[in-house]
Amino acid sequence: MATRNNAKKTGSRNQALGKRTLKRVSGLEPSVRKLFESARAVRKNAYAPYSHFKVGAALRDNRGRIFTGCNVENASYGGTQCAERAAITAMVASGARDVKEIVIVTDTPEGCPPCGFCRQVLSEFSGDPRTTKVHIANLTGGVKTLTMSELLPHAFDAAFFD
Ligand SMILES: [Zn+2]
Repeated sequence: MATRNNAKKTGSRNQALGKRTLKRVSGLEPSVRKLFESARAVRKNAYAPYSHFKVGAALRDNRGRIFTGCNVENASYGGTQCAERAAITAMVASGARDVKEIVIVTDTPEGCPPCGFCRQVLSEFSGDPRTTKVHIANLTGGVKTLTMSELLPHAFDAAFFD
């Protein structure tokens, strides 16, 4: 359960994203609902003995395949991997490179957006950041949707060193 403190923190994050009303996953396309269920299921496998903050992510690539990931912490904190990057790693290992949409599930009232590191990595694998959707969901199916370019405007990419 999120504490009152966590709720306050989440509230300030949402202000930074621009205040949005949560929609219901049940009202979205079946493909998003399936991603949500996959993300919620894989979240149960999260290894988070230090933060106790479990995260599940499920993405759909440009061929319609689903890849999932959960956060995996480490006693050496820098060895921790986020759920979003774990899902992307699985996608890349399969040979795919293009995330069409991703659902991220946390046990917070408003959901929790990807960290800066994950935004950068997601951006790398967003074929078109203006259309790649990031669905930020809570455990009970409340969700808000942003595009990758809304989450990471002015992204750094390979064009800067080509
Ligand atoms: Zn992250």
